[in-house]
Amino acid sequence: MNVLVKDKIVASEAGVVSIADRGYQFGDGIYEVIRVLNGKLFTEKEHMDRFYSSAEKMELVIPYTREKLTGLIYDLIKANNVIDGHVYFQLTRGNQDPRNHAFNDDAEGIITGQTKAYPRDMKMLEEGVTAITADDIRWLRCDIKTLNLIGNCMAKTKAQRAGAEEAILHRDGTVTECSSSSLLIVKDGVVKTHPLTNLILPGITRIVIMEAIAAANIPVVEEAFSLEELFAADEVMLASTGHDATPIIAIDGKQVGDGKRGPVTAEIQRYYDLRIEKECGK
Ligand code: PMP
Repeated sequence: MNVLVKDKIVASEAGVVSIADRGYQFGDGIYEVIRVLNGKLFTEKEHMDRFYSSAEKMELVIPYTREKLTGLIYDLIKANNVIDGHVYFQLTRGNQDPRNHAFNDDAEGIITGQTKAYPRDMKMLEEGVTAITADDIRWLRCDIKTLNLIGNCMAKTKAQRAGAEEAILHRDGTVTECSSSSLLIVKDGVVKTHPLTNLILPGITRIVIMEAIAAANIPVVEEAFSLEELFAADEVMLASTGHDATPIIAIDGKQVGDGKRGPVTAEIQRYYDLRIEKECGK
């Protein structure tokens, strides 16, 4: 396997960073995961926009132009012959020695990246997954895609130990999103999802789903909702780069709707497939 370290593609064994890296010591950095389909980056513009926006919110300087960074990401995909899969890349604030909580303003940011090959899971998209609910114990800037993911990791671990795919997070009974995906519910034909505030990540899949909803004239409200509304929903879906729009068919062991992918989720998936075809080909 080949990895990206700064502006070089190297064998993974050679991909080492310093223990003085602030990403390692403080989780001081940001990341992106972009789906690769037919060898192309799906929703590349939206992901790059978010990467630059996360950097700005954290006062991180991206050491390359957008064109150069995009080129390096494509080099990485090609070096690993990834046709379908994803690319992960991150930027840390670089090395700081001696260790100090305060930002090192003169730091040289360090970009690293990896790829993984996997096909779209069509069975999962049709049959759905299960979820549990968990307290959202994360910090108050969940809108930044930072490396600080321990709250997310704890929730996901809890879900997977319970045999579920995802953890649906809530703050005192108000649902926010999932540990590594956005969340949408459908009740009486109306879609509801948490508004884009500091409490959730602005998901790229969520953007594509909003386009699908607009294209299909489906009513939608961006409003926080309660656990009670979640459990009363006809359809629930999670949304992420790796999962597209996936139905959630049971939560905490209770069936959602009739336990099958619902019509609104299916309609959104149809649009999603078309968008993939348009951007990445068949
Ligand atoms: N929320 C969280 C907390 C996430 O980690 C992710 C990404 N895995 C998402 C939402 C979905 O974002 P995207 O659609 O951009 O993958």
